Amino acid sequence: MTPTLALACALIERPSVTPDDAGCQRLLGERLRTLGFHAESIDAGGVTNTWLSRPGHGPLFCFAGHTDVVPTGPLADWNSPPFVPTLRDGRLHGRGAADMKGGIAAFVTALERFLDAHPAPAARIALLITSDEEGPAVDGTRRVIEHLQARGETIDWCLVGEPSSTAQLGDTLRHGRRGSLNATLRVRGVQGHVAYPDRARNPIHAALPALLELCSRVWDTGNADFPPTSFQISSINAGAGATNVIPGQLEVRFNLRFSTEWTADALQAVISELLARHGVEASIDWQVSALPFLTRHGALLDAARESVRAVTGLDPELSTAGGTSDGRFIAPTGAQVVELGPINASIHQIDEWVGIDDLERLSVIYEGILWRLLAPAR
Ligand SMILES: [Zn+2]
Repeated sequence: MTPTLALACALIERPSVTPDDAGCQRLLGERLRTLGFHAESIDAGGVTNTWLSRPGHGPLFCFAGHTDVVPTGPLADWNSPPFVPTLRDGRLHGRGAADMKGGIAAFVTALERFLDAHPAPAARIALLITSDEEGPAVDGTRRVIEHLQARGETIDWCLVGEPSSTAQLGDTLRHGRRGSLNATLRVRGVQGHVAYPDRARNPIHAALPALLELCSRVWDTGNADFPPTSFQISSINAGAGATNVIPGQLEVRFNLRFSTEWTADALQAVISELLARHGVEASIDWQVSALPFLTRHGALLDAARESVRAVTGLDPELSTAGGTSDGRFIAPTGAQVVELGPINASIHQIDEWVGIDDLERLSVIYEGILWRLLAPAR
């Protein structure tokens, strides 16, 4: 068994269902101590976070990842137990294999080979590992970044090991992500008898034309780096429980995934104006869960593309699609952020897997990025 595969198995054996870390970060700390890394716990709100850093001079390269995994789902549906790493058909099966213990293992072994050959690079190297990426993501990466900022430490290059690949290892890397804006809209009406609508005010009727306009609006057509901004209603609730009652309130939850064509403030202003124009009496609670970010150029992106090309022969597609990631907390500090990891076909699913060969090749890709960025004149 190769070192990368063995470490991935050791991590999968630890049942770290979010926000539980189940000892994964201690294992990483012990493993990296021999390479000169110092482990610093930045725990918050029941979440385990570790900042592993190696002293040095020059720019700060950081690998970011999470040890927590999503719940297993029904155990009976798994072909092998989710926390028993199992090799089958050229794949390593287990919860977290692709998202993202495989990526963490590949990064650690890439570092071991790189530092063995080049023990004193002209850069600082760190790992930012949290156990709260799959959960609320409040006390994880966000808290570590706050901690770093408070002491004036900034990341220059951040490689996020999330599973970015689609059909083949390295076919896609993410150089940005859309923003995400949540809203809870509460429309006020006046409850009454359906037979006497003149004595009531139906909040559903009041809201429908505005909701229809929100659903059918073209927010933008995207741009060179981002798909179009999308609006989705995720729930609508109203009703007094009887067919003969006009309800007094309607609650609608919706989300926008938005490109750099918009700011959260501009979206809020447009939606508030639209509701007012339709005469909808409502209050809105807004929650900005992510701002869009983009790393269009830079040494990290170049190194990642070249390393993927050298190992796989593929020219990776640059994408900003998909959900949010912890890159949203790191990019606003000015860091270049690139997400590159294994195939994501099985993430969060029953029988999650990562290709055994892909695990080894990912480690070589990560090592190539380290060489290109941190020891360019080899
Ligand atoms: Zn993940």
